[in-house]
Amino acid sequence: MSPNDVVLSIISRSVPIHLLPDWEGSGSCDVLRLDMLDSHISGNKIFKLLGHLQAWQASGRSGLLSFGGAYSNHLHALAAICAQANVPLTLMVRGFAELPLTPTLVDCQAWGAQLHFCSRREYALRYDEAYRQNLAQQWDAWVIPEGGDGPEGRQGCALIAERVSGYDEVWLALGTGTTALGMALELAAQTKLIGVNCVADQGEQQQRWQQELGTEMHWQVLDQYHGGGFGRCPEAIKSLIQRYDALELPLDPVYTAKVIWALEQEQAAGRLTNARRLIIHTGGLQGRRGVNLSLAPVASCQA
Ligand SMILES: *Cc1c(COP(=O)(O)O)cnc(C)c1O
Repeated sequence: MSPNDVVLSIISRSVPIHLLPDWEGSGSCDVLRLDMLDSHISGNKIFKLLGHLQAWQASGRSGLLSFGGAYSNHLHALAAICAQANVPLTLMVRGFAELPLTPTLVDCQAWGAQLHFCSRREYALRYDEAYRQNLAQQWDAWVIPEGGDGPEGRQGCALIAERVSGYDEVWLALGTGTTALGMALELAAQTKLIGVNCVADQGEQQQRWQQELGTEMHWQVLDQYHGGGFGRCPEAIKSLIQRYDALELPLDPVYTAKVIWALEQEQAAGRLTNARRLIIHTGGLQGRRGVNLSLAPVASCQA
């Protein structure tokens, strides 16, 4: 199977919807379990890769190359796809070769990816055109940007919108915002898109949505629930994760737990309306290993 076929077969699977109880007077909350699409390739990253893999196929390059941190959900998903499709993969990792590999990188390496550790200075070049062309030539690889972002990343995320019809509000976590803005391409006009910003970015994401979505769509970016900044996991978030584990809704520390935290806080402040609400579980559960939250094995919808 080509990587594209691997992705298409996974994103055509159906996933369960988890009903969260107890939102009296504040409507209803369903959770779309994209984390259950596949046991390794879960959540939004697989949608983000679709357009990039099409571009790779057209490029004629033999392999793929991308960038990420040592706990990156993007690198993890990409390595799993390349293993299944037998495509050579080079990963440029921000970090130090001398340190023990993270569980994320252990998986990537076991799946056959070549790891290259970059200094801060080299990693900062990841958007530099000449640097990227150089890497592409050196590895005969198609270069996918960090996180699977860019217009190609948005293209596949538009497909998530098909799964959210009939809701008044759709909530999801924002990193770069590529997933949300991709969904916005196909979202019904009456559905309000609510992004919980997981990055402390001084209003940058707000401005981007203002420019790109303007007043044609209903939307809101919540900027106060990043929990101290990207990747930070304060005690309140850890205990929230444990509470939801008991409800059989596993959450990741970087993104999805912050969406639920935002919902709870908004409800406590009386700001939730009586709406039919869908939360997109964007996956990322492999990252729990980075904060020592062991994860009970989660079922997936893999055939
Ligand atoms: C990457 C990621 C996000 C953020 O996606 P963006 O497209 O960068 O906004 C959200 N949730 C999880 C679990 C992710 O891995």
